[in-house]
Amino acid sequence: MSEKQYEVTELLGDGISAEIRTSVHAVADALPEEYVFDTIDLTYENRKKGARPLYDKAIESMTRTGRGLKYPTETVEESPNAVLRKLAKFSVIHRPVSTIPGVATNFAKKIDLDIIRIATGGTYDDPGQMIGDYAAASLRVVDRQTCEHAARYAFSIAARDRKLLASSSKYTIQRVTDGLFESIVDEVAKDIQFAGQITHRRELFDALLAKLIMRPEDYNVILVLNEYGDFLSDLAGGLIGSLGLGASVSLSFDEKSRVRLAMFDAAHGTAPDIAGKSMANPTAILLAFSLLLAHIGEPRSADALKKSLFDCLEAGETTGDLGGKLGTMELTQAVIGRLKNHLKAG
Ligand code: ATP
Repeated sequence: MSEKQYEVTELLGDGISAEIRTSVHAVADALPEEYVFDTIDLTYENRKKGARPLYDKAIESMTRTGRGLKYPTETVEESPNAVLRKLAKFSVIHRPVSTIPGVATNFAKKIDLDIIRIATGGTYDDPGQMIGDYAAASLRVVDRQTCEHAARYAFSIAARDRKLLASSSKYTIQRVTDGLFESIVDEVAKDIQFAGQITHRRELFDALLAKLIMRPEDYNVILVLNEYGDFLSDLAGGLIGSLGLGASVSLSFDEKSRVRLAMFDAAHGTAPDIAGKSMANPTAILLAFSLLLAHIGEPRSADALKKSLFDCLEAGETTGDLGGKLGTMELTQAVIGRLKNHLKAG
């Protein structure tokens, strides 16, 4: 029996969800800690019978455990992602993007980024309105508290490896809104004792896009407002050659800026065309699980999982979507086979 036990809420979805869930459970069983899953069935079959109580149960469980692993869900009547975002009050999204071995890309350099995006406000909460019939305008909101939550979280991510943190916006033009964002980041930097070990710099967002492509090694953690984060996440996905192999964390915070709830998921959808055929690539959900492990304070297991997975991909041991020959569980077993060595080395 392992001494350490963690409870994880998991939100079961549609399509390939069941298969990639089996992969996560097999990996969890191979780790030195014990993982107990509280499963909430968010399959469309079950949601059809009455979705609201299921969402309430999901939030209740994630609030208790502090963490959730969400499998892809089908959007039919409602978007489960949108409902959960609203109920859980997710305000920040953390999207790591790093070069994935074995994935073809036009970009020759390596990148290893943690994009921390404020996921509310900006211009996205307001569709805008017409001014007479000659123009249209929309309101852009930058909320002080959300900036503080995001900044504290971003510094905590940077502190894990004493990395570089760039906050980026158009503060010379959007002086009030982006200016407020940057000034809060500065305040948080001063307030946090470990900030001295982290190099924080402000960068204009347009320049950052160019520099990121020319010198990606100069970037680790990037903290941005909503729209910038939206564009940057897809750009980074394009650089690594895939929008679907990534994972992300949605975060909500308490009034003291501590993470109240973190929900981890894969970037891809339900892939109904390959569901039930053992063809699903578990890479993204295993990356999501690795992020969860890092979040709960098990960096050794988190790193070992990521390294084992990347070793497999580098060796061409992968599923058909990446040109390999393995099925979902064969790849999972290949990952598990490499775990022990990486756990020993870590
Ligand atoms: P949804 O409506 O849930 O977004 P979708 O099929 O429209 O589903 P994705 O699930 O992102 O969108 O799939 C896009 C394509 O990528 C599909 O051909 C799908 O089979 C493939 N795909 C997505 N995820 C995976 C995966 N984990 N492994 C293998 N192929 C995948």
